[in-house]
Amino acid sequence: MEIITRFAPSPTGYIHIGNVRSAIYPYLVARQSNGKMILRIEDTDRARFVDGATELIEDTLEWLGINWDEGPIVGGQNGPYFQSERQEIYHKWAKKLIESGRAYADPTTPEEIEAYRKECTEKKIPFLYRNFRPKNTPEWKPGIPLRFKSEPKEYAWHDEVMGDMHSGPEVLDDIILIKKDGYPTYNFAHIVDDAEMGVTHVMRGVEYLSSTPNYLAIYEALNLKRPKLVSLPHILAPQGNKKLGKRDGAKSVTEYRDDGILAEAMMNYLASLGWNDGTEQEIYTKEELIRKFSLDRIQTSGARYDETKLLWLNGQWIRKIFTEQGAEALYARTENFWPESAKSYSDEYKIKVLSIIYDRLKTLSDLRNMTNYFFEDPRIDLDMIINNKFLKKISESEIESLLKQTIAKLTDIEKWDEDDLQNALNELLLETGKKPAELFSLIRIAISFAPFSPALNLTLNVLGKETSLARLNSVARSI
Ligand code: GLU
Repeated sequence: MEIITRFAPSPTGYIHIGNVRSAIYPYLVARQSNGKMILRIEDTDRARFVDGATELIEDTLEWLGINWDEGPIVGGQNGPYFQSERQEIYHKWAKKLIESGRAYADPTTPEEIEAYRKECTEKKIPFLYRNFRPKNTPEWKPGIPLRFKSEPKEYAWHDEVMGDMHSGPEVLDDIILIKKDGYPTYNFAHIVDDAEMGVTHVMRGVEYLSSTPNYLAIYEALNLKRPKLVSLPHILAPQGNKKLGKRDGAKSVTEYRDDGILAEAMMNYLASLGWNDGTEQEIYTKEELIRKFSLDRIQTSGARYDETKLLWLNGQWIRKIFTEQGAEALYARTENFWPESAKSYSDEYKIKVLSIIYDRLKTLSDLRNMTNYFFEDPRIDLDMIINNKFLKKISESEIESLLKQTIAKLTDIEKWDEDDLQNALNELLLETGKKPAELFSLIRIAISFAPFSPALNLTLNVLGKETSLARLNSVARSI
């Protein structure tokens, strides 16, 4: 049987990092079995609809490398893929339930419902709508909510993550299927859509687990085969005490992209948040995830969001792309992350800069504050050198003579390549009797004013002889 999964987001804003795993896992399951992945936009809650949110969802998925076989943009035989355009389909299925006596139009007013609720609170009994079901119900027409007619019974089912589940009659109720505005509720629409679209694996957040018995009752009333149910545990705030929310620093996926996180790292991080293949492996390509992912290794408890881990993985991915695909492949990802001053420089020069700095980057946006001195003169003078905390131990007169010796030595270099530069620097160490931590810090600070930089010979090499000497001379002249 072909495996068909789906991601069914509601277009209520951007895709939050805590939600996007509900797209990644169905994608992996569909791809590993040569099945199908559907994207369905659940936009029937018109009050929460946000303009542009669908496009943001599509962009996010595309960036992550998650493609879908049916859905917006690509179409498919089971469309439309926006729930708001599927009214007739829901009404057709609603009528089946009315005909079999399992749904009724409910004329009860919100005030009456409130009064029933209050009555239960006062009597300290649970409020179950089915105990207040109206005796006479009108014919169903738009403007009147349609409710499911529940039957108190027990259910047993298997959740692919949570295991064998069981529920009693007290959780079953007359839930609303179609609202007053004619739009279906999530509870009804997703069942109809999953059935019409042939979805075999319903993978979604664990928050839907408590409503599952009501869904099972609807499957049964409609004579539908239950799909496999897969409840994905929550992603928790770093403290582990609650579901990850905006206030815990959870950003939208596109914000991470704009901050210089690579799609590969994001996919890798989120897929392994609450799942592992039983080994110590931490870096997974998408292809490996597709091969190795399995539902039975999803953990049942929530997984803590850990930004430090994400940044670490991102650094690993930056190195991986550089070493496996080459400097140009990594450079192609960096367009939006260079400092303003880099604009007028050639790609060739920026690739050189990237090649000596990539292994220090955690995010691509680190380029913005770690590479300025390759593109603009940091205009360093003696005061800046004397007051520098790394150079406190060197006296002013010593700084002067060290700079002069350095200038003389470097001026004599002919080839200005990495090796000649390293030789010259080694000779300087011998001649001055200084430790690298002192002499090299002085030179580094005089040419870059950066607290850290790539190896000195590499930095000098990329800056070029003219620029390097001009900077050293300008500091020496200020003495
Ligand atoms: N539209 C629901 C949500 O965004 C989808 C739940 C599901 O995947 O069925 O939470």
